[in-house]
Formats: sequence, structure tokens, C-alpha cells
Amino acid sequence: MILAFVEHVQGAPTMLSLEVLTFARRLAQEMAAPLEAVVIGPTGGSAAGTLSSYGVSTLHVADDPRLAEYAPAAWAQSIAELAAHAQPVLVIGTASDRGAEVMAHLAARMALPLAANCTEVKPGDPFSVTRQRWGGSLLEEARLSGSIKLLTLAPHTLAAEASPTRTEVATQPWAPALADKDFRVRIIPQVEADTGKISLAQARVVVGGGRGVGSAEGFASLEELAGLLGGAVGCSRAVTSLGWRPHADQVGQTGTRIAPDLYIACGISGAIQHMVGCRAAKHILAINTDSAAPIVAQADYAVVGDVQKVLAAVNAEVRRVKAGEPSQSPA
Ligand SMILES: Cc1cc2nc3c(=O)[nH]c(=O)nc-3n(C[C@H](O)[C@H](O)[C@H](O)COP(=O)(O)OP(=O)(O)OC[C@H]3O[C@@H](n4cnc5c(N)ncnc54)[C@H](O)[C@@H]3O)c2cc1C
Repeated sequence: MILAFVEHVQGAPTMLSLEVLTFARRLAQEMAAPLEAVVIGPTGGSAAGTLSSYGVSTLHVADDPRLAEYAPAAWAQSIAELAAHAQPVLVIGTASDRGAEVMAHLAARMALPLAANCTEVKPGDPFSVTRQRWGGSLLEEARLSGSIKLLTLAPHTLAAEASPTRTEVATQPWAPALADKDFRVRIIPQVEADTGKISLAQARVVVGGGRGVGSAEGFASLEELAGLLGGAVGCSRAVTSLGWRPHADQVGQTGTRIAPDLYIACGISGAIQHMVGCRAAKHILAINTDSAAPIVAQADYAVVGDVQKVLAAVNAEVRRVKAGEPSQSPA
């Protein structure tokens, strides 16, 4: 049996967990093994509806009110208890901040090796994986040992895809044996940033700004374009280091990995550490004064020019199109 650790928000699986389920379903078919899932916290049971479209046969729900809030050691202990009892061949989780932390705790508790950020799995003996290193700039072929294989899937390795057929999901709640020490690390208050805004990780359009934007105030034109296109604003690390934008907006190796349909990179040079965060974008449009900037070579489209002048023209055109007025751009 393959066990997928599914993260959820009030019973709604996260997008990265749906990617994990899609990957795990294909692996389960290849290995002729059933696919089961584990969710943590009392509201997790309502994930069953979604999971029936992802080939899951059994949903294990760690049902303890103390598990409603994130507590990495307690979450890992719950999965360890289940894995020790159910003996899956493989436990797979996301490589999100939480997924990576819980899976690392799980590996330590079960004294098993963990392969993080995998993009490919070849089951069998040896059990081989391909995994990302250095933020995705290096791919490593590795062999994974251990009686139960533990791995995380690199974000956006594949698109989440529901199965054409639905399965009957048997929901099995259980109360894991947890000690007070398992709750030493837990969430106390939770502060929602930028409520009402589209999240960077989920946005279909991201307008990213780099040092070339010139100032914190210079981001007003990027905010306007993101608003017009129903997207989100991102930035490079140079920008967060300068204090122009919060770290939550940073795209890259040490920021958020994005996978929008369109990434508009404004005044960003395209350093490798930035590109690993946006390489899953379907299309990249670069706006840069330097035609030799690395981002220009990696973009699908590029406009060579000053970001503020280009955006002023683009924003005016998008406003006109949205208002249903005839275009004034040159034929
Ligand atoms: C361990 C490590 C982790 C890192 N993690 C990240 C990360 O997660 N994300 C990240 O982004 N970086 C990261 N970095 C930093 C990265 O290496 C680069 O330094 C950074 O991405 C550069 O930001 P930038 O492109 O905005 O600035 P610059 O490299 O200074 O580029 C500015 C660009 O703007 C253009 N420009 C200038 N004026 C204009 C104008 N008026 N109009 C249009 N274009 C203009 C220039 O031609 C240039 O291409 C990391 C570095 C390290 C060592």
C-alpha cells in the first residue's frame, strides 16, 4: 500500500497535496498497490469527497482536537503510528514547508531515510529516485533504502489531475497516542497576511519586480497590472533585501515557487536562484533594459525597455481592453 500524507485547509486538500495524489496514483497503478491517504486533524475527514477523485481507497483521519493546529512532532508521531501499524511500502508527502518538516520528523522517529524533492520514482530493487538539489539547478539520481520508503515530491513536478473514475473512500478515524512533549512546537496565534489578495503560489498571473523597478513606490505600476489581470505581485531577493517588499512576495530558491500561466518579470536579471522559483511558469515575459540579461534568454517573450515606460503603456492598453474601448496600439 502507498500512503499519501495529505495537507488540507478545513478538509480541502492543498494544491501541492493534489499533485502528490496524482503522482502517487500513477505509482500505485505501476506497483499494483492500493493508494491510501492520511490527513491530520478533526476536519480532515471532509477531504474524502475530493480524494475519491484521486484514486484513494482508504482515508485515515488522525482525530484529536489538539491536532487541529499545526504541531510538527505530533503530526509526525500520528503518521509514524499509522505507518508502523499499516506497513505501507511508501509514504509520500509534499515538499511544502510543513510537508518537508513533518516528513523529516517522521524519518527521524522511524529511523528511516527520506528522499526529499523527488521528481521521479522507479520502484523495484533497487528503489531509485530522481530528486532536485540546489533548488532544482541539479538533478540527482539516488537509491532509497529502508523497509518503508519515505519521500517528498518536488512542487509542480506534474499538474494535479483528477482520475476519470471515482473510488469509494472508506474513512477510518483513529486517535493517535500522543504525549505532551509532542506538542512542544505548536502554532499559538496565526496572522493572515494580505487577506483578500490572491496568493502568490496559486496566482494564474504573477507580475514580478526586481531591482530595476527602482524603488518601493515603483511597484505601484506592477500592483496595477496585477490587479487588472487578477494576479499577484512577486519580487526578487534584491527587492526584499532593499526592504521594498516583504519576504512573503519573494520568488525563488529562498522564496515561493510559483507556477502561473504567465510570469511578467520586470527589471529582474534572471539569476539562477530566482529562476528556480519561476521555472514552472507556462510563459515568461521579461521587461528589461538589458537585452543581454539572462532572463531575456530564458523568457518566451521579452520587451527591451524601461520597466515604468513599458508598464505605463501595457496598463493603459489593458485598461482600454477591459473597458471594451478600441485598441490604440499601433497596427
Ligand atoms: C543562497 C542564495 C539564495 C538566493 N535566493 C534567491 C531567491 O529566492 N530569489 C531571488 O530572486 N534571488 C535569490 N538570490 C539572489 C540572486 O542571486 C540575485 O542576486 C537576485 O535575484 C537579483 O535580483 P534582481 O534581478 O532584482 O537584481 P539585479 O541582478 O540587480 O538585476 C536588475 C535587473 O534590472 C534591469 N534593469 C535595471 N533598470 C531597469 C529599468 N529601468 N527597466 C527595466 N529593467 C531594468 C537590469 O538590466 C538587471 O537585469 C539568492 C542568492 C543566494 C546566494
